[in-house]
Amino acid sequence: MTVHEQHDPMSRDEVVLLLRTIAHYDNRPPSVETTDAWLMSAQLAGWKLAEAVAAVHHHFAFSTDYLKPGHITALIQQARQKPRIPLEARTVAQALPAPEQPPAEPERVRSIVEQLANRLGWERTKRPDPATSPVECPVCQALPGKPCVRRQHRGPHKGRYVPLAKPHPSRVELERGTTS
Ligand SMILES: [Zn+2]
Repeated sequence: MTVHEQHDPMSRDEVVLLLRTIAHYDNRPPSVETTDAWLMSAQLAGWKLAEAVAAVHHHFAFSTDYLKPGHITALIQQARQKPRIPLEARTVAQALPAPEQPPAEPERVRSIVEQLANRLGWERTKRPDPATSPVECPVCQALPGKPCVRRQHRGPHKGRYVPLAKPHPSRVELERGTTS
C-alpha cells in the first residue's frame, strides 16, 4: 500500500450511515451491538465510507444474500483491483507517459513504420491529426505522429509535459521540407 492509499479508518458515525443505507434495503433494525460489530469489520478490513456505500448498492443490485461485512470487504477489494478511469483532465495529464524517458523500442519502431507509410502515401484516407506531424519535432522531440509537448514551468503540474494543440512551427517547416 502506498502512502497515497492510506486513509483513516471509518468512524462510528460513518458506520451508522452505512447501516442506515443497508436498512433501506432489508429493514434490519438499528442497534448499538450491530454498529459496534460493523465498525470492527470496517476498521479491520480498511473500508472507506464511499466504497462501502457503493458496495452495499452493488450487493443488493446483484445478490439476494443477507448482507454481511464479508460481502462488503470482497466487493471493495474487487473494485480496488479495477483500473480507475481518469475523469479529470489533470488526471489525464498525470497519466501521460513521461517524455523525458526514452520511448519504448516497439513504439519507436511503429512510429518509423508510420512515418514511412505516410511518405509512401499509405493511409491516405486517414485524416491527419492537426495536433501532430509525420516528422519528429526538432524542438520538443515529439515522435512522428505524436503531438508536440510543452513542459509546465509553474502551477500544480510543474515539470510535467502537456500536449499542444498545434505542432511547433519548426516542425511544420520541417514537414513541408520533407514532404514536398
Ligand atoms: Zn514540438
